[in-house]
Amino acid sequence: MRLHALTIDLEEWYHAELVRGKVPPARRVDQAPAAVQPILALLQAHHVRATFFIVGEVAERQPALVREIASAGHEIACHSYSHRPLWEMTAEELDRELREFRRLMEDILGDAPAIIGFRAPTFSLEARTAWALEVLAEHGYRYDSSIFPLRTPLYGVASAPLEPYRIGASAVERHDANSRLVEFPLTVCQVGGRRIPVSGGTYLRLLPWPLFTWCWERTARTRPAVLYVHPWETYAGTPRVPMPFHLAVGTYGNIAGALGRLGRLLERYRFAPMRDVLAQGGWLEG
Ligand SMILES: [Zn+2]
Repeated sequence: MRLHALTIDLEEWYHAELVRGKVPPARRVDQAPAAVQPILALLQAHHVRATFFIVGEVAERQPALVREIASAGHEIACHSYSHRPLWEMTAEELDRELREFRRLMEDILGDAPAIIGFRAPTFSLEARTAWALEVLAEHGYRYDSSIFPLRTPLYGVASAPLEPYRIGASAVERHDANSRLVEFPLTVCQVGGRRIPVSGGTYLRLLPWPLFTWCWERTARTRPAVLYVHPWETYAGTPRVPMPFHLAVGTYGNIAGALGRLGRLLERYRFAPMRDVLAQGGWLEG
């Protein structure tokens, strides 16, 4: 049975793109340890391991949680240190964040397996932030999963490939055989000329379930897919930060139903950490 990549973006509720910057430090009450427990329990119940893309700031405050995730056999990967999108960073700042992230993980995990996977906050890898690829390669990363192959008001690269490819800085939307960095784009379902996002998050929570499952099945039949979930979007205790109604729906809609939907996918499909899915496809050789 085909393997699909299950990825958890481990960040706090106040890191979410439309919330970030609106919560003063005094109101940033951490909930990641509590919000992650139901996810860990669900994964254990289904005997599934996942990739956790972890924000450095969360790991710094919750080292025991990181150790718990690693000791359950999940892959540890990087979701930046500060959760600032790449379009708000310079190459020097990303370099510093990756260095600090690695040092922190060595402190927390000792000589655990090397960290080779990266996901940019808010899928912020696109033509204008392609400089980040060189920084990632210099730090020993082997794969990235930040390209959203569909343009939304906030992010996305409309013409990017739908399946894993080698990604280079000269054109992020084209396979570059010379690049050592593999891109695993977020999953969209191609229907005629349209691309429908079924990679998780808002789409997992809000698309009508029959449409989501139809698109997911159509995609997963033909290629490895990737699903992402944030702990804050599966947890009833997530504080609701005021924002215009249509944005609030996207950020907070159907939080109560998210874990149930994830569970149904775990029952029907076989999921693994992203590095395992890429290794099975021969993408990490050489
Ligand atoms: Zn994130």
